[in-house]
Amino acid sequence: MNVLIAGITGHICDNCISQAQSIIKEELAQKAHQKLESSLVLQKPEEIKAYIDNYVIGQEDAKRVLSVAVYNHYKRLLQKVDSEEEEIEIEKSNIVLVGETGTGKTLMAKTIAKMLNVPFCIADATILTEAGYVGEDVESILSRLLQAANYDVGLAERGIVFVDEIDKIARKSDNASITRDVSGEGVQQALLKLLEGSEVNVPPQGGRKHPEQKLIQINTRNILFICGGAFDGIQRIIERRVKTTTIGYSSTQEDFGFDPDNVLQYVSPVDLKSFGLIPELIGRFPVLSYLNPLDKYTLRRIITEPKNALIKQYIKLFEMDGVKLSFEKSALDFIVEKALEYKLGARGLRSICEAVLTDLMFELPSKAEMVEFNVTRQYAEKKFNKSKISKLKAA
Ligand code: ADP
Repeated sequence: MNVLIAGITGHICDNCISQAQSIIKEELAQKAHQKLESSLVLQKPEEIKAYIDNYVIGQEDAKRVLSVAVYNHYKRLLQKVDSEEEEIEIEKSNIVLVGETGTGKTLMAKTIAKMLNVPFCIADATILTEAGYVGEDVESILSRLLQAANYDVGLAERGIVFVDEIDKIARKSDNASITRDVSGEGVQQALLKLLEGSEVNVPPQGGRKHPEQKLIQINTRNILFICGGAFDGIQRIIERRVKTTTIGYSSTQEDFGFDPDNVLQYVSPVDLKSFGLIPELIGRFPVLSYLNPLDKYTLRRIITEPKNALIKQYIKLFEMDGVKLSFEKSALDFIVEKALEYKLGARGLRSICEAVLTDLMFELPSKAEMVEFNVTRQYAEKKFNKSKISKLKAA
């Protein structure tokens, strides 16, 4: 005993304080886990999909595949809760999503994490390098998850990690290089360790591991990894494979119903290998799905339908100033047309809306007499044409 602190009716020494502290810590951690377990109600795939439908438009195939993967992941978590000594251990269903940028890969992963009420983080594969090189070690991915879980290791160990741009760590070519492939195969090898479920030492503040930093051990067995990538050029690989296999079976592409406009739907693990992912890594991702490019109809739905759709957000913002905002249908069509014309995708819808509405958002709060405003196509065109984005097209 070093210190004795006097209270009103008694004293407490430093030993008791630290003991009490660890009891409190344990109690809190247990409570957090109980909360998590009670929130883990086994939702059926159809219910999971219905939830995702609230936020993500279209992408039916990916939603179905993800719903089943998440359902199985749920079952796996509950199995662990029920019986530690179960003989059949269900393997993790890590997921790879292939699709152009801005088609909803991150949104899908984020939505699932929200539904499961588990910590979620996004990591960018492009900044990762092999240990010992300039860049971040793969363990830094888990630092982010730990931060998202407020440093509760137990919670982090059941989180979801979205690794973006996984295609950027593909092996650059099949030729063995004399220089080390620091950002490609080496990183894939390092990732394997995280994916397969092992104890990983994580620097709590992220970045590189250095000797002074105390490392925290995280078990990745129950962490769900969802990876996304555009896999630029994989269409050619898929097409070549599909063509050769269909010829091999002496059938024509027409027989098979090959749709050359949406080649990604035929993606298979072999294509990821041809693209430059190592077989061991592909093996850790039993679930593979694709996202469709967003067409006019999907974009049109995206601005109004999701629970937190852009247009709903603007209406809410104006409502807070006491103004009833509405949009002519053709004004919304105009926004979608411009997003397509300027190849801005779903992300561009927001910039276009901003271009159309900024003047109004600037002036309206000072105009007490205005109680409603209808955005017509003509108004949208006028504001858009005078905006900076409209000058982008030439580029
Ligand atoms: P990715 O990860 O595929 O590059 P994101 O998921 O980050 O793309 O999508 C960018 C934004 O575009 C999202 O935040 C969302 O607002 C919108 N978006 C993209 N696809 C969809 C979709 N299918 N449904 C609803 N919103 C979408």
